[in-house]
Amino acid sequence: MVGAGMGGLAATGAIARHFEQVVVMERDALPAEPAHRPGIPQGRHVHGLLVSGQRALSALFPGFEQDLVRAGAVPLIAGLDIRSERPGYDPFPQRDLGWSSYALSRSALEHALRRRVESLANVELRQPCRVLELLATPDGATVSGVRCENGDGSRETLAADLVIDASGRGALTFALLKSTGRSPPEETTIGVDFGYATCVFAVPDDAPTDWKGVLTFGGRDPQSSRGALLHPLEGNRWMLSLGGRHGEDPAGDIDGFLAFARELRTPTIYNAVRHAKPLGPVVRYGFPESVLRHFERLETFPRGLLPIADAICRFNPIYGQGMSVAAQEACLLERLLERLSEESDPIGGLAPAFFAEVPALLDTPWSVATMDFIHPSTRGQRPADFETRLKFGMALTRLAAQDPAVHRLAAEVQSLLKPRSVYRDDPALMRVISAIMAQV
Ligand SMILES: Cc1cc2nc3c(=O)[nH]c(=O)nc-3n(C[C@H](O)[C@H](O)[C@H](O)COP(=O)(O)OP(=O)(O)OC[C@H]3O[C@@H](n4cnc5c(N)ncnc54)[C@H](O)[C@@H]3O)c2cc1C
Repeated sequence: MVGAGMGGLAATGAIARHFEQVVVMERDALPAEPAHRPGIPQGRHVHGLLVSGQRALSALFPGFEQDLVRAGAVPLIAGLDIRSERPGYDPFPQRDLGWSSYALSRSALEHALRRRVESLANVELRQPCRVLELLATPDGATVSGVRCENGDGSRETLAADLVIDASGRGALTFALLKSTGRSPPEETTIGVDFGYATCVFAVPDDAPTDWKGVLTFGGRDPQSSRGALLHPLEGNRWMLSLGGRHGEDPAGDIDGFLAFARELRTPTIYNAVRHAKPLGPVVRYGFPESVLRHFERLETFPRGLLPIADAICRFNPIYGQGMSVAAQEACLLERLLERLSEESDPIGGLAPAFFAEVPALLDTPWSVATMDFIHPSTRGQRPADFETRLKFGMALTRLAAQDPAVHRLAAEVQSLLKPRSVYRDDPALMRVISAIMAQV
């Protein structure tokens, strides 16, 4: 396993039951306590775990939710505890939708997951250990192991039946495809040029009690892209991430940061943090584009290799999907290993089966990411039916505001508990939505 980020740790839970020994190689020296590390630069920004991701991790590591509670995670009642402010709905009706999730920092979440992986008897977590290249048999048909560099500078070769590339970028997989004379997968991209800035605050004594977090969307004018998420963290803290597109980036100093917060469409977040104590500096992050790699379209792929998580698909982080999709992919991997264990060459069948099934898993979260085309400066190929999708989304939002059952269904789709096809499967709902679409 290359990488001990969210994808690598979740996938280790999936494969540990099916292999004698698993070696997880991570280039960072991993901190003993929840702490930031250089290999996860995004970890200083809000990382919301959707309830689907939480359930996927609990399926892989039974009782994981209790680990989150022990890590100090803040319980959030879906639909109630995060105040959602969007044009025309300030706020969107707050109602208990019937499930809970947990809010905590990326470092605390990853630390809790790492603890679980470390407790698996047949798993060795090697760190710091950078994988330098994937190795293939002379005919290039099979990946046979990796060459890596340990923390003391020594280099070695490790043989493996299966190498999973959970390195985030997937550069090792691309290099191997090239060196074995294969083409890289085609990519679909959505250029968003999103600029993030984040600061952590102590929750003040006079903090509002009618919400635990706030999500503020930009204005109706698609030119105004400024948005924000104020998220609770373990240790009675708030993490505030501000963002804008195509140069509308928030500043990296606290005065500029607060000035950006003051100019949000609503005053809720600024009023909450203006007198709160910052607990660290403002940190920034640039996210250029969402990327979907179509591994399923490749004619040949080396046996014994599998890319996973961000190495397959990276989403605009504002939708909070990447970690949950990584966990769902790990559950898919587990199901496939179970199914293929009956067959004569389970490893030979693994990547083709995974690539065949992963597009269905990615369909709903990728369709969420395509909503970025609402902003005219977004780069890439708009889906041909984008205007219809937009109208559908507006009609659904209007209906969800009025009808708790529709609100719940829409939240289930947004949380990746259900695929977007559930709308189509409900003719009565579709009739009402079509009627509203005719008016919007
Ligand atoms: C600003 C920002 C905010 C985000 N917010 C959210 C959010 O709210 N919710 C959400 O679900 N997702 C969010 N994401 C996405 C989320 O961070 C990723 O989807 C998720 O971490 C993907 O997991 P991964 O294992 O593929 O990669 P990562 O978690 O990035 O892990 C990759 C690991 O591989 C290691 N590595 C890399 N190369 C090597 C090598 N050669 N040898 C050994 N180790 C190597 C790295 O050090 C790292 O530990 C956000 C992303 C960004 C950029």
